[in-house]
Amino acid sequence: MEEFDLHRNEENTDLHFEEQIRPGEFTQFAGQEKITDNLKVFVKAALLRGESLDHVLFHGPPGLGKTTLAHIVANELGVGMRITSGPVLDKPGDLAGLLTGLETGDVLFIDEIHRLSPVVEEYLYSAMEDFTIDIMLDKGPGARSVQLTLQPFTLIGATTRSGLLTSPLRARFGIQCHLEYYDASVLLKIVQRSAHILSVEIEEKAAKEIASRSRGTPRIANALLRRVRDFAQVKGTGSIDTEIAQYALDALRIDKRGLDQMDNKILSTIIHKFKGGPVGIGTIATAVSEEVGTLEEVYEPFLIKEGLLQRTPRGREATQLAYEHLGVISSASKTIF
Ligand code: ADP
Repeated sequence: MEEFDLHRNEENTDLHFEEQIRPGEFTQFAGQEKITDNLKVFVKAALLRGESLDHVLFHGPPGLGKTTLAHIVANELGVGMRITSGPVLDKPGDLAGLLTGLETGDVLFIDEIHRLSPVVEEYLYSAMEDFTIDIMLDKGPGARSVQLTLQPFTLIGATTRSGLLTSPLRARFGIQCHLEYYDASVLLKIVQRSAHILSVEIEEKAAKEIASRSRGTPRIANALLRRVRDFAQVKGTGSIDTEIAQYALDALRIDKRGLDQMDNKILSTIIHKFKGGPVGIGTIATAVSEEVGTLEEVYEPFLIKEGLLQRTPRGREATQLAYEHLGVISSASKTIF
């Protein structure tokens, strides 16, 4: 059977479904308490002073709620939000158009902000700092620039690769939040909430099963819930019990720990090619054809959190748990037995 590709699934996400289940208020957003507690204070303070909220940067792996938090912040501020992304904004003119269209206090959300082109990024500096932009009129010798004053606004940037952000850009964000992977207990609540919104009955044990196989990621939990719901409708009674959840997840070839193909490739490379490590991150990156930064910021944190990988001064090491996960006997245990 074809491998279930969660990333492809993300791209095909049904917009209607997304709108239905995306939390719209802080009270509906589970987990990440440190971040939401602070944001609530900053939003309240901005409202009390009648000022725009300071610029906010959300960084962390994909699917953890960066876009959702941006929506919530705009909602709680009672302002509008314009959405764009780094790769889309390739000319300063595109950015100028967006900025001049903002009303007082509005939020401009830029996803994948690490992918802004340097000229657009530079243009953003004055907009963020003193709400002005310089626009060039004409070209050649007659060219002159005019300064435009913008309405105060809040820029919310999101990135999976904060290491790629330039320091001048990073320094212009007064509020910076790092999103962490979710514990299974929080994901359980998210799965139950989504099932409730979709009017699907789900046993607690079945919801736990989905939560524990979701790679600590709400987006994956929701995607799995949808697929399991399909199995329940076609092969079962429509409601999700443990048996149908397990059947569906196995049929979709979802790893017991919810690891994706790259996670498994990293572990098996360390184990099979480098005797379990320690091995340098650059060497692993070359072996799995991925960038060092992506390994460090997107994959490694989850593998470390799950106790499958260790960072040592001499490099990365696969843990005993990683050997067990891949069904390999480690050389350490060979000498014991
Ligand atoms: P990101 O922007 O970090 O890639 P999103 O904000 O798009 O992630 O979230 C992905 C999906 O997960 C959305 O459908 C959202 O509704 C859901 N989600 C994310 N975080 C939470 C949360 N804390 N509680 C409930 N649902 C969440």
